[in-house]
Amino acid sequence: MTRPSPAPTGRRAWLSNVRRVRLIPTYLLIVASVAFSTIALPAQTTFKLDRNRYKLEDDVKVGQEAATQVTKELPLLNDARTEEWVEEVGRVLVAAIPSEFSHPPFRYTFDVINQKEINAFALPGGPMFLNRGMIEAGKTEAEVAGVMGHEIAHVALRHGTAQATKGERFQLGALLGQVAGAVVGGTAGGLIAQGSQFGLGTYFLKFGREYERQADLLGAQILARAGYDPRQMANMFKTIEAQGGSRQPEWMSSHPNPGNRYDAILREAALLRIQGNADSGNFDEIKSRLAKMSPALTAEQIAKANASKAGTTGATGTRAPIRVDPPSSQSRSYRPNNMITITVPANWQPTNGNDGVTTYAPGGGLAENGFTHGIQVGILQNATGDLQRDTEQMIQGFAKSNPRLQRQQGYRRENVGGRTGLTTVLSNVSDATGQAESVTVSTTQLRGNALLFLVGVSPQTEASVYGNAFQRIRQGLQISDR
Ligand SMILES: [Zn+2]
Repeated sequence: MTRPSPAPTGRRAWLSNVRRVRLIPTYLLIVASVAFSTIALPAQTTFKLDRNRYKLEDDVKVGQEAATQVTKELPLLNDARTEEWVEEVGRVLVAAIPSEFSHPPFRYTFDVINQKEINAFALPGGPMFLNRGMIEAGKTEAEVAGVMGHEIAHVALRHGTAQATKGERFQLGALLGQVAGAVVGGTAGGLIAQGSQFGLGTYFLKFGREYERQADLLGAQILARAGYDPRQMANMFKTIEAQGGSRQPEWMSSHPNPGNRYDAILREAALLRIQGNADSGNFDEIKSRLAKMSPALTAEQIAKANASKAGTTGATGTRAPIRVDPPSSQSRSYRPNNMITITVPANWQPTNGNDGVTTYAPGGGLAENGFTHGIQVGILQNATGDLQRDTEQMIQGFAKSNPRLQRQQGYRRENVGGRTGLTTVLSNVSDATGQAESVTVSTTQLRGNALLFLVGVSPQTEASVYGNAFQRIRQGLQISDR
């Protein structure tokens, strides 16, 4: 597979919250003036950060990783004038984030994707991507700023990792969302272009009603503080809906209407004072500039281009199977963490994911978009303590980002690291090769309701050789968690 050339430099504005200008919020003055009054004025909505077991730096780390993936798979517009404009709007909005939600490690960046569909998304820690179609659909700068303010609010409220924190009990949780992608081949360019999940996608790009409500209202506050009319956010949502026609625009499906969306935004807007006028006056110029360019690419065109880049002719893939050496008869032991000693064929090398998951794969078995041969080991915290139920929920988590994953058999109760464990074999189609692959999942319980899992992957044609290797590995596993 060819690696795309590195992203051009100078395109991103690395904004530090430390440098931002602090405005004295006018509403504080209003509150002070009525402090002795018995009349309670309606106040703007206040927010609390949701429970989050991740560090601020984790948001930054996973966001960066996902952003790198995005820039590999989606075509950036790379028009300096448009980038400059979007960065300017973004900078003004970021400076207006209320201080309690401005997290010093976060770095907000703004990029335009040369894609037609109306969409925009922001990743944990700050990277934001706006489709060209979103700018083309906007009637005013403030409308586009409205969507950006909403996205910035998701980031500032740390909704991505807060959601992962919640989900953990039921899914492979959190940063392990990556595993779901990586395990069975991960992310085809087409998937992300079509707006489906790409590894982290399910965790970080789609929120429930409460988070949508918060992003609307905090977004409205950010807009007003920045000097944009927050009612324009509501207008933009109407514009997006109207442009969607019969098909729901992607943005709407990943940011579901929390109910009475427009009224709620207008109610909040009525409590806010717009501080100055942030309009750059350049929106019309940007729009006519875009209108003169060749049309933005559709999701379908992008998916096709990515497929041919990857050497496939389409979703089924026709790449030659990857050749790797069979499991060596020699073995080698590793301690991926302080609870486990794992013994694998000597020709398999460990690769640590940033999510505490280690992949052991032979040379050539670990591709850029997933692994085709080898085994992953990791620990899922906060499981329920019911082995079969936890295993089932973990596999459902895999299936979400691997729609072609299929159960081949029920669970076998089997020794894993000297304990009672469960093993099951599934089939999948590898995104890396387009070929059928066999996925062996084994689990056992650790102290404190944690679930230890092993996920072995090999092409279907080599399943028996690898199946034997996986069995030796799970039986030879040493666990010390007491
Ligand atoms: Zn949203």
